[in-house]
This record gives sequence, C-alpha cells and structure tokens, in this order.
Amino acid sequence: MATTLLGALLQLQSVERQIAHVRRRLETRKRAVTAQERKIGELREQLEAQEQQSLDKRKLADGAELDLKVKEEQVSKLRTALNTAKTNKEYSSLLTQINTIKADNAKLEETTLREMQDVDALKEEIARTRSLIESEDKRLAEVNRNSAEEIARLEAMLEGLVAKRAEAAGSVPDEFLSIFERIAENYDGEAMAVIEVHGKEPRQQYTCGGCYMSLNAEHVNALNSRDEMRRCDNCGRILYLERMVEGLPAT
Ligand SMILES: [Zn+2]
Repeated sequence: MATTLLGALLQLQSVERQIAHVRRRLETRKRAVTAQERKIGELREQLEAQEQQSLDKRKLADGAELDLKVKEEQVSKLRTALNTAKTNKEYSSLLTQINTIKADNAKLEETTLREMQDVDALKEEIARTRSLIESEDKRLAEVNRNSAEEIARLEAMLEGLVAKRAEAAGSVPDEFLSIFERIAENYDGEAMAVIEVHGKEPRQQYTCGGCYMSLNAEHVNALNSRDEMRRCDNCGRILYLERMVEGLPAT
C-alpha cells in the first residue's frame, strides 16, 4: 500500500485507467453485435423491396399477355369476316382494322417480353440477397457466440477491478478522493497527468501531460519537496512527477 498521498492517488489512477479500458472494450463488443444486426435488417428491407418490384413487374406482364389474347381473338374474328366480305370497300376496311390491331399486338408483345426479362433479372438479385442474408446471419451467430464469452470475461474482470478500486480508494483521504473522482469523470478515468520535462537544466520547461499546456516551475519545485495535491492550471488534472510512478506496487 502506498504511504504517500500522491502514491495512493497514482495507484487509484492505475486501477481507474484499467477500469476505463475494460469498459471501452465492453462497449466495442456490444456495438459489434448491434452493427451486425443492423446490417441484416437493411438486407431484409432490400429483399422485401426486390420481391415487391418483381411482383409488380409480373402483374404488368400478365396484364399485357391478357390484352394480347383478347386482341388475337379479335384478329381471328376479323379474318373470318374478311373471307366473307361482300364488297371491296368492306374488305379493305376489315384489312385496315386487322393491321392496326396487329401493330398494337407487336407493342404488347414487346412489353411482355421486357417485363419478363426484368422479372428474371430480379429473380437473380433476390437469390443473391437471400444468400447474403444467410451468410450474414451465420456471422451474427458467430459474433454473438464470441461476444457472449468475451463480454462475460470482461465483466468478471471489471468486477475484480471495482473491488481493487475500492481498496485503492481506501488509502486516499476523503477530501482528495472526491476531487479525484470529479476529475476522473470529466476525463474518462484520467484524473492525473505527468509533468513533462523539456530541454536541459537549468533552462527546463514543463508541460502538462494531459492538456500539453505550459506549467509553472513552481509546481515541480513543490512536488519535489512536498507530498501534496497540485493541479494543472489549465485542465485541472492532478499533477505528478515521472519518478513517482517508479517503485509503486503493480496493480
Ligand atoms: Zn493540463
């Protein structure tokens, strides 16, 4: 157990950092499952749209085919009439009617063919989407299985760390603990920042390892002579010196 205030805070910081790390990993795991579920949901919507489109096209083709049948019957009736035409005038009028309907029929045949070709193309697309959904479903099952194991492992780890954290917090006096916790909350578990040293003595410069702003040498002088809580003037993190981390028990 640390015997100094800063030692105790650094130990607490170390556990806090591990907790934040495990929490982030847990979140990533849980997000992977939702992302895969969303992907499959989108594919299902796509499949539904393709099936609807195919149905619409088939209806159009069926309608055109029906029209064609009706018109072909008309043509055959007109042909019978043509054989029994009494005058040239009647004959040529019937012939004109037949030719007009035949021209329409050619268009109808074209429409039917085009719609049926579209239906065939859609059939392939639908099969592709279906097999995609099948493979993504398999992946989801795998992600779920792996995630369940990993999530259980991480949650057990988190539980252990929370107990460790309570122990480490026990070594920090209440007034300092509440400050630490407030800062940790703001910075995702990073309540403390090392003082970074730049240049050579005696013209050394100092910056906060949390926000990278310059620090007054007074902080360094104070920490070198006293065991006290000093905070960055800019970000408010609790400052410590690199050497303080050495010799701390591993957490
Ligand atoms: Zn800072």
